[in-house]
Amino acid sequence: MPFSRVCPFCNVLSTITENDIQHTNAFCYTDYSKGKFYHLKTYVVTCPSQQCKKAEIYTQKLSDKINGVGYHVPDYECIIKSWNLEPEASIKIFPDYIPEQILQDYKEAKLIVNISPKASATISRRCLQTMIRDFWAIKGKKSLHHEIEAIKDKIDTNMYDAIMALKSIGNIGAHPEKDINIIVDVEPGEAEELVWLIETLIEDWYMVRHDRENRINKIKSINTEKQLERKIDPYSTN
Ligand SMILES: [Zn+2]
Repeated sequence: MPFSRVCPFCNVLSTITENDIQHTNAFCYTDYSKGKFYHLKTYVVTCPSQQCKKAEIYTQKLSDKINGVGYHVPDYECIIKSWNLEPEASIKIFPDYIPEQILQDYKEAKLIVNISPKASATISRRCLQTMIRDFWAIKGKKSLHHEIEAIKDKIDTNMYDAIMALKSIGNIGAHPEKDINIIVDVEPGEAEELVWLIETLIEDWYMVRHDRENRINKIKSINTEKQLERKIDPYSTN
C-alpha cells in the first residue's frame, strides 16, 4: 500500500511505494520473562526525491499471532515499538538559514528526550528564548516571561498559551523548587511535545518567512522581466 511520508533528511513530502522499501524477514524470538513471542523487522526506506535518495532505517517490534495453518507470524496491525536507526531520534533536518544555535539546541533536546526529559525540556526552553530574541528582535527584557509577553499581540492566543507552557515546564529543570522536598518530574512524552513545539515554531516563523520573501522577490523579478519585454521603464509609476 503506497503511503505519504515527509523525508526526515530533506523534509520533502512524497509517496512511498513498494519499490522504495527494502526490508529483512521478520525474526521471531521468545521473551522468556513473559513467555511470549515477538517479531523484529528492519526497514530501509529510500527517499524518492532525485536530489535526496537518502535511506531512512528503522526496526519494528511486532506482536505475534497464529496464522491459518498454525504458524507464528508477525501481527502487522500491532506494532509494539519502533526504533529509528538512521537518522537517529527522527531529528528533522532544517535548512541552513536557521541560526546554528537554534538547530544545535533543537537537536540536543530531541536526542535526550527519553534519557533525560527534564534536561530536554530545559534546552527546549533555552531554544525558545533564542528564537524569540532572534526572530522577533526582542531585547532588554528581564526574563523569558516578559519576552513572551512582548510578542503576545504578534501570535495567536493558542500559540501564546503553548509557548508560556513550554517556558513553565522548562523551568522545572532550570530552577529548583523552593521546597526541596517537592520533586516535579518531566515525562519523556511531555518533553517530546515541547520539542514538537520547537519544530513547529522553526517552521511557522523562519521557514514561512523565508518562503514568503522568496515568493515576493520572484513576483518582483517577474514584473521586471515583463516590463523589460514591453520595453517600458520597470519602475514607471503608471
Ligand atoms: Zn529526502
